[in-house]
Amino acid sequence: MTLQRAVIVGASHAGAQLAASLRQEGWNGEIVLVGDESALPYQRPPLSKAYLAGRSTLGELAIRSAEFYAKQEIQPLHATVQGIDRTAGRLVLSSGESLAYTKLALCTGARPRRLRTPGADLAGVYYLRTAADVELIREAATPGGRAVIVGGGYIGLETAASLRALGLEVTVLEAAERVLERVTAPEVSAFFERIHREKGTDVRTGALVEALTGDSRVREVVLSSGESIPADLVIVGIGVEPNTDLASAAGLLVDDGIVIDDRARTSDPGIVAAGDCASHDMARYGRRIRLESVPSAGEQAKVAAATMCGKSKEITALPWFWSDQYDLKLQIAGLNTGYDEVVLSGDPSRDRDFTCFYLRQGELLAADCVNRPRDFMFSKRVITDPTIPVDGLPITLEHR
Ligand code: FAD
Ligand code: NAP
Repeated sequence: MTLQRAVIVGASHAGAQLAASLRQEGWNGEIVLVGDESALPYQRPPLSKAYLAGRSTLGELAIRSAEFYAKQEIQPLHATVQGIDRTAGRLVLSSGESLAYTKLALCTGARPRRLRTPGADLAGVYYLRTAADVELIREAATPGGRAVIVGGGYIGLETAASLRALGLEVTVLEAAERVLERVTAPEVSAFFERIHREKGTDVRTGALVEALTGDSRVREVVLSSGESIPADLVIVGIGVEPNTDLASAAGLLVDDGIVIDDRARTSDPGIVAAGDCASHDMARYGRRIRLESVPSAGEQAKVAAATMCGKSKEITALPWFWSDQYDLKLQIAGLNTGYDEVVLSGDPSRDRDFTCFYLRQGELLAADCVNRPRDFMFSKRVITDPTIPVDGLPITLEHR
């Protein structure tokens, strides 16, 4: 009998789940999980939170233990895949070796978008995607130091909270008119700006970075307004770009991510993809979307594993997200694209718990829930099942 080998490229949230799910779906052959980071797959969300704050070790962040992989006969392989030979069914590794596969999964994730201003390559400028990145930031983040964070998205705000807790002076520079603009309503952005300012972070919106200056190490961030902000370290969190180079070079269809169908198949039905690297046509939203979240990576990976085993599962789950900043837990159910009405429960200009519901023609599309886990759970149900009336929400709706 010929050897059956499933190879997964990328060993993080999607790859680790896919490997485990392959065994659950009944894959009897070899499983090789190839990753270019040296550690076993670990959870990224705590990187900007507990790991940056020094409250957890990398071992504690492991998604599964070494014993789990051994018991499930999943072989982790520390290597970088450089090319895919689809005709021969082989991967080319950067070491020059090759690795044959019967089934292939691409879980290559995303990398930070780079800042392209003059001085962006000075020492003291950091990105935050991997444990190794955080270890470098931790060395530079000494109490009393001045940190400038470029980008008021999830990375920027979570990192600001962690660095304040470590005793640094923090400035957040957001190019848009408000933080979290891409994902939330103005009321929610205003709430997070207020909270971060109350904690002593200097949050500046409409702030365009023109240059970073310093001799060998960054010393100042120069804004287009002409103002200079002193900096001992700069952390850039301006979004990510999907790792699609391997897929494109192999002739797979790429459109802001490796294009996959409802069963996680790429344009080559023998190759699946999952996670931040993949973009998927979501019937619920009537468009192709590349989600960047742990729950989505996990669901796509489970579907991809079923497909590799010749079974039929589909990607259907409602997207959801969370973000922890200080003692606040933001939970987002659904995507708010196309909303025509916002309904608030609670007062974000005053309270520390509230929910912002997004509706379109009276139908609930999404909800941002701050310290309101029950609203979050209920919203997920209502959005998934439109037969539940919005009036049934377990709170008093205060229309704007
Ligand atoms: P990735 O995690 O990007 O992993 C891809 C892996 O593949 C990487 O290890 C990469 O090095 C490797 N790889 C790529 N190309 C190759 C190659 N050619 N050869 C070998 N290996 C390769 N999401 C949430 O839902 N909630 C949160 O609170 C949250 N917090 C976050 C905090 C931080 C600091 C960061 C960085 C992200 C956070 N996210 C959060 C996003 C979440 O981590 C990602 O959505 C998730 O990691 C996606 O998993 P993935 O496996 O698709 O990709
Ligand atoms: P992000 O959420 O996309 O936010 C980046 C922010 O930076 C956006 O508001 C963006 O504005 C702004 N920006 C872009 N270019 C800028 C510039 N030159 N100067 C100043 N601001 C600029 O991305 P991220 O915060 O970097 O996070 C990276 C990835 O990690 C994402 O996939 C994110 O989802 C994930 N992550 C998730 C969580 C979570 O779910 N809790 C936590 C951390 C990280 P525009 O939108 O206008 O470009």
